[in-house]
Amino acid sequence: MLSLRQLFLANNAQTTDFPLMLEFERAEGVYMYDMEGKPNLDLISGIGVSNIGHSHPEVISTIKDQLDKYMHLMVYGEYVQTPQVRFAEKLTSLLPAQLQSVYFTNSGTEAIEGAMKLAKRYTGRQHIISCHNSYHGSTQGALSIMGNEEFKQAYRPLLPGVSFIQFNNHHDLDYITEETACVVLETIQGEAGIRVPDGAYMQALRDRCSQTGTLLILDENQTAFGRTGKLFAFEHFGIEPDILVLGKALGGGMPLGAFIASSEIMGALKNNPILGHLTTFGGHPVCCASGLASLEVILNNNLIESVAAKEALIKQLLVHPAIKDIRGKGLMLAVEFESFELNKRIIDHCIAQGVITDWFLHCSNAMRIAPPLIITNEQIRHACKVILHAVNQSV
Ligand code: PMP
Repeated sequence: MLSLRQLFLANNAQTTDFPLMLEFERAEGVYMYDMEGKPNLDLISGIGVSNIGHSHPEVISTIKDQLDKYMHLMVYGEYVQTPQVRFAEKLTSLLPAQLQSVYFTNSGTEAIEGAMKLAKRYTGRQHIISCHNSYHGSTQGALSIMGNEEFKQAYRPLLPGVSFIQFNNHHDLDYITEETACVVLETIQGEAGIRVPDGAYMQALRDRCSQTGTLLILDENQTAFGRTGKLFAFEHFGIEPDILVLGKALGGGMPLGAFIASSEIMGALKNNPILGHLTTFGGHPVCCASGLASLEVILNNNLIESVAAKEALIKQLLVHPAIKDIRGKGLMLAVEFESFELNKRIIDHCIAQGVITDWFLHCSNAMRIAPPLIITNEQIRHACKVILHAVNQSV
């Protein structure tokens, strides 16, 4: 009889020849428990998803309550479904006044797709600008705006009319013109290895978009819901997007995305043609109930308050000649080493010691530190001790 691992390799589509192949029986809080019951500290939150930790009891009970009421009833946008309405009400109450219309999707990628369509439809323009080293998803629209040729070349032709600027480069803002429908930007770049832009750049970007009538789309898939020390990362920069894109932690562990704009902008999807964006499962009632419960856990427990202090503790502890840089904001950090080979050896050591981490799509020589926000100082100390030990074993 084949083992579960053998079956995984045989029947589940593989996207690399070297999957992590970790196997867990259950997960709770910051720990994922392997088949022998050994706890593993989750330093990556399933890539920016588990901000409140795994299996939060309030989220679980909310999901169960919704399951008892209904699951799928109808395609998006026709019926008045309580979880969608309540979640949109809560989200918009926490956002700048103009961001009042929420379109729920199944994923962050689909939210990007919807946002790009909306920008084209609203502005009547075709040209889209994105950043080098960006990641916005893997479908053909999102892939078209990915700032890494290596992942794209085999899939051409992709969307025409897309060009790229350097993230955080003031000069490149001149490429934004009256022809540009939108600029799509991660507020803090994730897969580029966590790149934080400076405030003056974000202000200049906002101004340039406003001057040219270009919609500013901020992709907060990785940065939202307290990850960087604010509920949304754009709050650090004193600017507001025209369209905000959410996913990952939005669903509290369930699949959910959203793009959010003013009612005026979003209204463009209603006519010429009607039904400008459609989805069967987008805004699934169980996912919306879960997302709202998760957001309430974040707010009611002031989980964001301690994020900056946790960032400072990690930066204070992770000092070693082999560590070239620690970048990032809040609990969204990249620890950079000399090479991928060294980084990979360190990561393998950490995983063997029960501290789960990985590297970045466009920055393979940096290690990701993005644990659930509920991680305690004691757990941070333990994780950093394991990392430093792994560094010493690997250099
Ligand atoms: N945008 C960003 C910034 C992301 O990091 C990701 C996923 N890593 C996506 C979009 C796509 O999200 P998903 O894979 O959940 O559709």
